[in-house]
Formats: sequence, C-alpha cells, structure tokens
Amino acid sequence: MDLKITQARLAGRVGLWDIGIEGDRISAVAPALSTSVATVIDAAQKLVIPGLVDGHIHLDKALILDRHPAVEGTFQEAMRGTLRLKQTFTEADIQARARQVLQRAIAFGITAMRSHVEVDHTIGLTGLRALLPLRQEFAWGITLQLAAFAQEGITNQPGVEALLREAMTLGADVIGSAPYVDPDPEQNIRIVFDIAEAFNCDVDFHLDFLDDDAPLLWPVVAAETARRGWRGRVCLGHMTKLAGLSPTELAEAAAMREAGISILALPASDLYMMSRKDTHNVRRGVAPVHTLAAMGVNTGLAVNNIQNLFTPFGDGDVLKIGTLLAQVLQMGTAQAHELCLDMATTRAARAIGIQDQAIAPGHRADLVILDAASATEAIAAPPANRTVLKHGRIVAQTKLERQLFCRPSE
Ligand SMILES: [Zn+2]
Repeated sequence: MDLKITQARLAGRVGLWDIGIEGDRISAVAPALSTSVATVIDAAQKLVIPGLVDGHIHLDKALILDRHPAVEGTFQEAMRGTLRLKQTFTEADIQARARQVLQRAIAFGITAMRSHVEVDHTIGLTGLRALLPLRQEFAWGITLQLAAFAQEGITNQPGVEALLREAMTLGADVIGSAPYVDPDPEQNIRIVFDIAEAFNCDVDFHLDFLDDDAPLLWPVVAAETARRGWRGRVCLGHMTKLAGLSPTELAEAAAMREAGISILALPASDLYMMSRKDTHNVRRGVAPVHTLAAMGVNTGLAVNNIQNLFTPFGDGDVLKIGTLLAQVLQMGTAQAHELCLDMATTRAARAIGIQDQAIAPGHRADLVILDAASATEAIAAPPANRTVLKHGRIVAQTKLERQLFCRPSE
C-alpha cells in the first residue's frame, strides 16, 4: 500500500472509513486499516467521493461569450453566432481556452471528461488537431476522451462523413452527431453507427433536443444499438423531449435500459434554451433522469457549454450542475442527493464507458475529498475546498481564503 486516506465519510455508508491505495488503484476500504504507509491523508471526517466526471462538454467553443455577447438570446442566434465565431478559431486559440477549462476541471475534481469536437466544413479538423495533444498534456490530472462531432448535419453536408472518418483515423475516441439539425436524422444516425463499426468506437448523440413536434429518435438509436451489438457503448445527451412525456409515455423509455443506452442531462443549457415559445408557466425541458434511473436506465448529468451563446453561464464545475439538477428535478431527500452525486461520478463514468469509477477495491484511485460531511451538504452548497487524487496521487488542492475585517463600533 502506497497511500492511505483515513477518517473518510462515504456517501450511503455509515461511520468513518480508511481507503488504501496501491499504485493507481484502490486496494482496500475498511473502517480502520492497520497497514502503515509512508503517506497518510487525514480526511478529517469529510466526504470522499469518486472523481467527478463531465461526460459531455464542448472544449472547442468554451469561453467565447465575450467575443459575441447575446443580442437576441435565441437558439437561432446561438447556432448562427457560434458558426460565425467558429470561422475565426485557430488551433492556438482553441488550446488556450481548453487549457483554462481543463485546469479548472482538474481543480474541481473532474478526473474524466468527454469533450465533443466539431468536425465540419467550417472548422475542418482544426478543433481535433488542437485538442488531441491536450489529451496527453493533461493525462496526469484527467482522462480526456474526444468525440468527433457533426454539429451541422451529415446528409446535408457532402464530404462531412469523410471528414469524420479522417477524424477517427487521426485519433478521436468516439463518434457523434446532432441528428436534429439533419434533414434526414435517421440516415444521420445510421452513418454514425457505420463509422462506429468501422473504427470500433463508442457513439454519442445530441438527441431528442428542443421542444418541437418532431418524432422521438431514441427508438431509432435503440434499434441500431441492438442491430449492431453496441450495447453499453451509446450515450445520449440532452433528451429534453423526455421531459414532456406523460408517465405512460415515459415508461417506454425503459427500453433504453434493455438496449444498454446511457442518458446525460445537461440542465444548464437546457433550462436556458428550451421552451422559448412558452409565454407563461415556462416548461423546464430537463430530462427526468431521476425517474429514468428508477426505471433502471443509466443516467447522469454533465456541463455541456460554458460561457457561450448556448449557455452564457457556468464555470465547468459538474458538482454545481448537480445542485442545479436537484433543484430543477425537485430532488430533496438524502437518497436523492446521493443519486445526484452518483450521476456526477459513477453513473456519468459508465455513460462514457468507464466502469470502475467507484470507491471499491480494484477500482481506479481517482478521488475527491470534499469539505462536506454528507451528500446532502455537498449538493446543497458545493464546497470550494477540495483535494483531488488522480491515479492515486494528489493532483490539485483548493483552499478558500476568506478574511473578515471586523470593525468594532467606535
Ligand atoms: Zn453538447
């Protein structure tokens, strides 16, 4: 054993625990480990959680709001404005912004991340070429997956399929698209699966997004997943349309459990973008991931965008998204808060193909010590103070410095 964390609280378990770490793996979890080790980290009765996971972010278009502040604040403006900005992106520019996000992410305790990277005729492979070296550069603190992402459609963009295949050859980890912008969304989905088969990679769709009357596409994805034998390798982001289904209609989504498909809610973006035509009683449009979890579907939450036209908010802290989700989905019990934490860690990890992001022997020693005593406290007010371990080593520590200058009344 190389390292021991002592006096840790663990979500869903009573008492205090020691966590033994050997190399990059957890070797033991017990109330008191007698083994003496060189390095001991006293958790001081604070909550230790598995490393946070942001399974859906866009590093290439993060932190660009200052270049194009919203005038209309509409989805159309976000599509139009981002496309215009994309024409000005360079590798150095994307890298500078991505590095900022990645450094913050590591400090927040995000130890695994999947970033979508736009691949189309506007940006070509510039985004991917910019981000590929960062995967290695930041491997000490974060496992970064890159998903080649067709944001502007495939069947309507001759040559984009070939570009996507080139992106996979260059080293992208995952293939994905946004079928809702494609005039033939079903063919878009089939092409993405064709590429996934050719490169033996996981699939990630931006799906059933917006609040229009277009038919649900997840049954098409579920059918393709089964037909291609892609169970456990498909992740769906947004899924806002599920928020508008009655309980009876939503019950059909249990088929995604059978298909082994994961869903990530993106509440920061969805709350901002959805239901713009509602004049009052504005619908929330956040996928009911708590209900889906109760149905046995693997669900999680993620950041999506940070400070751009699609989401002019956020700092990339996935734990704060947990707070937002708990508020929006009215998750108030201790059990619900533990589910929220799970959706920001273990379940989000599973959604992006990482099966061992949990505090158990043999699992990866990616951990965060939070300045909170329980899941409820962590979700109520995500603490600034965090100690982050990646591969069994401390990679970040944040300590909030606060000073009060009390002036006694004169
Ligand atoms: Zn997205």
